[in-house]
Amino acid sequence: MIDFQNVIDTIHNNLKDEVFRGLVADYIPELADIDVQNFGIHLRLLDGQTFATGDWNKKFSIQSISKVLTLAMALPMYPENLWQRVDVEPSGNPFNHLSLLELENGIPRNPLINAGAIVIADILVSLLKNPKEDFLNYVRAVVDDHTITFNLEVAESERLTGYNNYAAANLLKAYGNLENDVDVVLDFYFHQCAIEMNCEQLSKAFIMFANHGTCCLKTNQLSASQAKRINAIMLTCGFYDEAGEFAFEVGLPGKSGVGGGIVALLPNHFTISVWSPGLNDKGNSLLGMQALEQFTTMTKLSIF
Ligand code: GLU
Repeated sequence: MIDFQNVIDTIHNNLKDEVFRGLVADYIPELADIDVQNFGIHLRLLDGQTFATGDWNKKFSIQSISKVLTLAMALPMYPENLWQRVDVEPSGNPFNHLSLLELENGIPRNPLINAGAIVIADILVSLLKNPKEDFLNYVRAVVDDHTITFNLEVAESERLTGYNNYAAANLLKAYGNLENDVDVVLDFYFHQCAIEMNCEQLSKAFIMFANHGTCCLKTNQLSASQAKRINAIMLTCGFYDEAGEFAFEVGLPGKSGVGGGIVALLPNHFTISVWSPGLNDKGNSLLGMQALEQFTTMTKLSIF
């Protein structure tokens, strides 16, 4: 049996004094003041054992990590039509790229780039009675934790500065791939990105992907096949234009966000969350990538 606590403590020690930690995302003004020294790791095994180190219990903005959770909520409700509105091909472009190639015939390349996530947001806005509240309650139910909330200042900060997202949503609307009003869909999207969690909550939220779709939800669980597909999308599309590098260095499906969080998982085994808000030039947590590379190298636990 691997001494997981020792592994993550060793990784934390190896990296905690790094001087070059990347830069916090400042294009969302509310995120610009986060202390770059924060660094936490949380590991959850499928049998419920947990191991944690550093700033694992501080909350941060999950940002793009929310795109996996909206997809997981939408897919069981809209299983046939969803893949007609968004493709499943990786993108060589940054998350907020607006190239028409990312929107061929109005179909975004995958659900984890912003344009794709905005289509998924539109699907949820159409399907849910109280979209923001219902999605927040879904996340709370998945984690079994009713303290999870939106950071309303972050959502507002994104609304005021989200010109790229407005452009993407307007383009989608022009192509007929948004059913709802642009402002309504983006209001939902900015709120989903502004959910705050700590590393422990994030590890729990992603257990369903390590567990063939099964989690503590009473309804709307993913099927095993849907969980497999979402894992494939995380592996190929989860790290902006650095998904190849993440597969190469770490070898796990996962998703990052510009809040500096990364969550990754090994089906049948574990989920692991790392938070360090300094980003590399591709927008992924710099220490987070290094920590996960060390984790899969030390434990030899990866999909490869
Ligand atoms: N809310 C951010 C945006 O749309 C998400 C970015 C990210 O984490 O990739 O710009």
